[in-house]
Amino acid sequence: MKLYNTLTKQKEEFVPVHEGKVGMYVCGPTVYNYIHIGNARPMIVFDTVRRYFEYKGYDVNYVSNFTDVDDKIIKKANEEGVPASEISERFIAECKKDMEGLNIEPATHNPKATEEIDGMIAMISTLIEKGYAYEKNGTVYFRTRKFKNYGQLSKKNLDDMRAGIRIAVSDEKEDAMDFVLWKPKKEGEPAWVSPWGEGRPGWHIECSEMSKKYIGDTIDIHAGGEDLVFPHHENEIAQSEACNDEKFANYWMHNAFLNIDNRKMSKSLGNFFTVREISEKYDLQVLRFFMLSAHYRSPLNFSAELMEAAKNGLERITTAAENLKFLINNAKMEDMSEDEREKLAGSTVYVENFEKAMDDDFNTADAISAVFEFVKYMNTTTDGASSKEYLQNLFDCLVRLTDVLGII
Ligand code: AMP
Ligand code: ZN
Repeated sequence: MKLYNTLTKQKEEFVPVHEGKVGMYVCGPTVYNYIHIGNARPMIVFDTVRRYFEYKGYDVNYVSNFTDVDDKIIKKANEEGVPASEISERFIAECKKDMEGLNIEPATHNPKATEEIDGMIAMISTLIEKGYAYEKNGTVYFRTRKFKNYGQLSKKNLDDMRAGIRIAVSDEKEDAMDFVLWKPKKEGEPAWVSPWGEGRPGWHIECSEMSKKYIGDTIDIHAGGEDLVFPHHENEIAQSEACNDEKFANYWMHNAFLNIDNRKMSKSLGNFFTVREISEKYDLQVLRFFMLSAHYRSPLNFSAELMEAAKNGLERITTAAENLKFLINNAKMEDMSEDEREKLAGSTVYVENFEKAMDDDFNTADAISAVFEFVKYMNTTTDGASSKEYLQNLFDCLVRLTDVLGII
């Protein structure tokens, strides 16, 4: 099984840390509003990755966080005159509803940043003890210069980056590239007690802490959208490896953007549709199918035509499944004939093609083609005279494949 590793920029054979197990961490959403369909892309893609590992017999520990303390959440809370936790809890609940509609399997662990503050404080304290972090006026910074491999994931050079940054005279950082691990409390903001005074964690540290706590010092796969490579994931590597003295993640997977009119769909550009909006027009299964119709590392442009095509494609599969179910319920013969036995053997080529596609860096586009081929084979090799056993075998096989894609 091969997957593309952003760290090495090549496809690599997957070798787990612990035999038969996969520990994967997927950066989750910041919960201050309904999720948009761009946010849904990593959810769908990495849920499918997880499902394929499970299909292959792996025991998957799937961890995905909710960032529930953040400037945008606090801003929204202040606008509404409610505590930040009310905003985050509301949108975590809404996000979970959307995920259910998208048939995303519940994560093994779904930690929230605000419930992991102690662990983050412990990690930051270790970083300070080891000289990788320092405190100035209640803010704790990571000493980027001290971490020798900084830039390994994004292939950026620290000096080049530093040259591009103008430092304000008032800046208290030792170095322009140092980043925040802990920030002091501001009026009207949620805060926690720490050795550096009341405050709250920076964003990056939460993922380092949660992946360590719920998976371990070295995880198999760390994933998220490609915009997270720098600085978020680069900073996570620096924090975790400096703290734990272990390699942080063996494989880094990043999905390309969902675009609209060839621009990234995002809240800040205002060019987004929420999953909720789409659900008013389409079954969310269609959105899921649409997302999987492209390889996860290819940009995907959202359009009404492509959604219609996804809807039709999905219908071809569900109609075939319904027809098969009808034939099964009305079959007169129980056992497979010799001829059917041969036909069943002939159908394995589609399963092989499906697996070949998925083994090649989760090529869902080709895997879907294999499913269509299988459906065609099903349609042409079954009729009212087929045996129940033959029909049921085909049906079970279709369900196994569509389960990987998360299609009901
Ligand atoms: P955020 O809530 O912005 O931190 O995003 C949550 C996840 O959605 C991250 O993994 C982002 O990389 C991903 N994401 C955001 N916008 C898009 C997009 N237009 N296409 C694909 N992934 C996205
Ligand atoms: Zn993260």
